[in-house]
Amino acid sequence: MKTEVVDQLIKIVGRDGVLTTPEDLAAYSFDGTFAEGTPGAVVLPRSTDQVSQVVRAAAEAHVPIIPRGMGTGLAAGSVSIPGGSLVLCLTRMARILEIDEANATAHVEAGVVTSDLQAAVEERGLFYPPDPSSNRHSTIGGNIACNAGGPRCLKYGVTGDYVLGLTVVLADGRILKTGGKAIKDVTGLDLNALFTGSEGTLGVITEALLRLIPRPRFTQTAMAEFESLEAASESVSAILGAGIVPATLELMDQTAIRCVEEAFHLGLATDLEALLILETDGSDEGAVMREIKAIAGICREHAARSVRLAVSAADQTSLWEARRAVAPSLARRAPNKLGEDITVPRSAIPEIVRQLRGISQRHGLPIVIFGHAGDGNLHPNILFDRRQPEQRATMERMVGEIFAASLALGGTLSGEHGVGLLKRPYLEQALGPVSMDIQRRIKHALDPENLLNPGKLFA
Ligand SMILES: Cc1cc2nc3c(=O)[nH]c(=O)nc-3n(C[C@H](O)[C@H](O)[C@H](O)COP(=O)(O)OP(=O)(O)OC[C@H]3O[C@@H](n4cnc5c(N)ncnc54)[C@H](O)[C@@H]3O)c2cc1C
Repeated sequence: MKTEVVDQLIKIVGRDGVLTTPEDLAAYSFDGTFAEGTPGAVVLPRSTDQVSQVVRAAAEAHVPIIPRGMGTGLAAGSVSIPGGSLVLCLTRMARILEIDEANATAHVEAGVVTSDLQAAVEERGLFYPPDPSSNRHSTIGGNIACNAGGPRCLKYGVTGDYVLGLTVVLADGRILKTGGKAIKDVTGLDLNALFTGSEGTLGVITEALLRLIPRPRFTQTAMAEFESLEAASESVSAILGAGIVPATLELMDQTAIRCVEEAFHLGLATDLEALLILETDGSDEGAVMREIKAIAGICREHAARSVRLAVSAADQTSLWEARRAVAPSLARRAPNKLGEDITVPRSAIPEIVRQLRGISQRHGLPIVIFGHAGDGNLHPNILFDRRQPEQRATMERMVGEIFAASLALGGTLSGEHGVGLLKRPYLEQALGPVSMDIQRRIKHALDPENLLNPGKLFA
């Protein structure tokens, strides 16, 4: 990056807020995927005003900007593109500015870590439900930019359902404020929705006003074991069909169960075809217990080999251990994984799982399947070794087939991770030419010089 630009950035944020050494740049070259790209410099502002000045300086010098939170994204959205881009990292803007109990809102800076916000509001009897499994390592800004989901989203909705207002620095450095504390607001277009899920391509989110709800006081957890994946899927449909909306309804397939057992020896039966991990919650202990018992009954009626109900908090944690162990267990199986997050209509889960198994068998690389069965959002993870060019090429062919299968079943490319760099080649196939055209025009209207996260999502 040119010295004049770096000097200008130092003037705005101070010397300790600009990183240019190769070691520092290496630390910002990755996200949660296998993609990599070294930035020209990293800037760490402390206020919306500084972000605005940084964006103006970068725009004047025609330097592309990559907004970044904690870099846990799974679509290579915060990975730099070649040609000296500036990573604008929001992690020093990590203050919870206000928790308004009367209006049940939280006003936060974009760099607040999700679990820090959750802990702070729970102390006051309030609840911020969106719970990406990365919640201890991802930022609210990153969650909004990707419209992150998580296990609880079946009952409570995704991040976007909790965004009441945003402060966004636009590509020309102007500061836009959207929304507010009013719950109902149909004054003009819904700009909160426009920036939510925009993956850093339309503006830099610096602050957010978030909706909170009362904290559920009781939770109950169950784990159901199935010898057939169809039976597990039928149980999912039957539970929801009975009018029960569990807080979470997570699925692990046989490969996932075997990976976890091989790595962590939790005592899971490796001949099972599927495990469901379910949770109910609410403020009436009796109702929460009745729901989990009804769920257990439905699973048994649908040929569950066994259903375990947690009898203590420690028991609840241990039932979740298997699900939490999936991601770390995969690293022992293969050096690299590509975790997709297709979403299909719930009724298509058995069919998509059958097709995923077929893709794995045809190409010879393992696909581990787990995810949020209640909302049809599955994470097929392809295990491979990127040092082997033929495995990388095979993996890419498999990704194309996975997306084609999901779209053919009425599904989507991504339920929660976003498009970023990795899914970009498939976007038009999913959206069609008219939607692509409209989305590109919106991008052009807000960022005519294509300086914000170029090469991602639309390019
Ligand atoms: C182990 C693991 C588990 C995960 N589980 C889940 C899950 O359950 N659900 C889920 O949805 N995701 C999950 N993820 C993916 C990831 O954590 C989320 O996408 C998260 O929202 C990214 O937040 P981040 O702060 O790390 O953002 P980054 O990775 O830094 O950035 C992600 C994208 O957002 C943009 N961005 C970041 N901050 C801003 C900002 N302030 N303004 C504008 N654009 C911005 C970036 O340019 C990039 O395009 C998981 C990841 C890992 C590694």
